[in-house]
Amino acid sequence: MNDVFMNTYHRLPVTFAKGEGAWLFDIDGNKYLDFASGIAVNCLGHNYPPLVKAIAEQAAKLNHTCNYYMSDVSAAFAEKLAAACAGAGMKKVFLSNSGAEANEGACKLARKYSLEKYGPGRHQIVTLKGSFHGRTITTLAATGQDVFHKDFGPFTEGFRYIAPNDIKALEEALDPAATAGLLLEAIQGESGIHIQSQEYIKAAAKLCAERDILLMFDEVQCGVGRTGTFLACEAYGVKPDAVTLAKGLCGGIPAGALLAGPKTMDVFKTGDHGSTFGGNPIAAAAGFVVLDTVTKPEFLRSIKAKGEQIMNIIKSWNHSKITEVRGKGLMAGIDITEESWPILEKGIARAHSAGKSGLLVLAAGAKTLRLLPPYILSDTEIEEGLDILRSLL
Ligand SMILES: *Cc1c(COP(=O)(O)O)cnc(C)c1O
Repeated sequence: MNDVFMNTYHRLPVTFAKGEGAWLFDIDGNKYLDFASGIAVNCLGHNYPPLVKAIAEQAAKLNHTCNYYMSDVSAAFAEKLAAACAGAGMKKVFLSNSGAEANEGACKLARKYSLEKYGPGRHQIVTLKGSFHGRTITTLAATGQDVFHKDFGPFTEGFRYIAPNDIKALEEALDPAATAGLLLEAIQGESGIHIQSQEYIKAAAKLCAERDILLMFDEVQCGVGRTGTFLACEAYGVKPDAVTLAKGLCGGIPAGALLAGPKTMDVFKTGDHGSTFGGNPIAAAAGFVVLDTVTKPEFLRSIKAKGEQIMNIIKSWNHSKITEVRGKGLMAGIDITEESWPILEKGIARAHSAGKSGLLVLAAGAKTLRLLPPYILSDTEIEEGLDILRSLL
């Protein structure tokens, strides 16, 4: 079955056929507790009934209109999204299909803002080492990890990487004569859940404001409630110029978004940017349900509480193979003394012994496990999943 696919993924030996809540079922009926959510995508779990209903109803009504026209459902979704991000100062929305595409939009936004105001040459975009911004040629160039850079050059020019959490490096790199924008993850996901400090983000916001450099948060992984606030940057008390979202935004239906604040919201003029599928009605209907659910204060509080429960349980093990646990909300990184990939394999293999459930977790770097469970996880599922994880270690 795999032979027809290009060999781009290191796949684990399992083929899924169905999901329900925090559980996935393979083609043989074995069950797996899902602490991965398809990499932070299935944030409301699998087949969340209101989401299924919205998708089904929309599919029967209208699947697509190109962006020559407006659709009622994408307008409603965009309005709700702007409102959800208003706390971070966001005003307007561009809808895309993926995280990389949203970040491409952010890079274009920063370049045009700077070009119009300062003329050519001030086009550099500063990003952090250890960041992940996508797989297109430009978002690979934005990604501050050499491992992704082999084989695919030449890249889009004008990107510069600096060490995370290093205010001095930031002061030096943000050049008012050369830099258009700073693009960063408040919490780096792919490279192993690395949290930027309060002090660092505050300094970044201050420097960007003083030097008129756009502050842009890539919240493709850490946004949409994942860390207990709708946007992770809200917790830092800063107001960025742009934010990108994707992964969890429509609960499993592909979508991305670029949000812009007062300074950037009118930079794009008619014809400057676009996306055939952007604002797709089915994605919008799904996204409306996600926003309706996730933006409720008590729901966000439950994400925080579940995250704390997970952290406390793991820390209470004092496990000899765990060297550090860090995270925020339902985004956790666990450094272990051995390779992480075999743990993922064991989590799958466990489901093949009679009466046992598997556990799906993610790797982030060679020796870090990454947990991104769905927000609807119950207390007993947290305990069950962590019991399995402990046994795998
Ligand atoms: C996954 C991810 C992306 C890329 O998103 P795609 O939808 O795969 O293009 C970009 N930024 C961050 C922080 C991500 O986690």
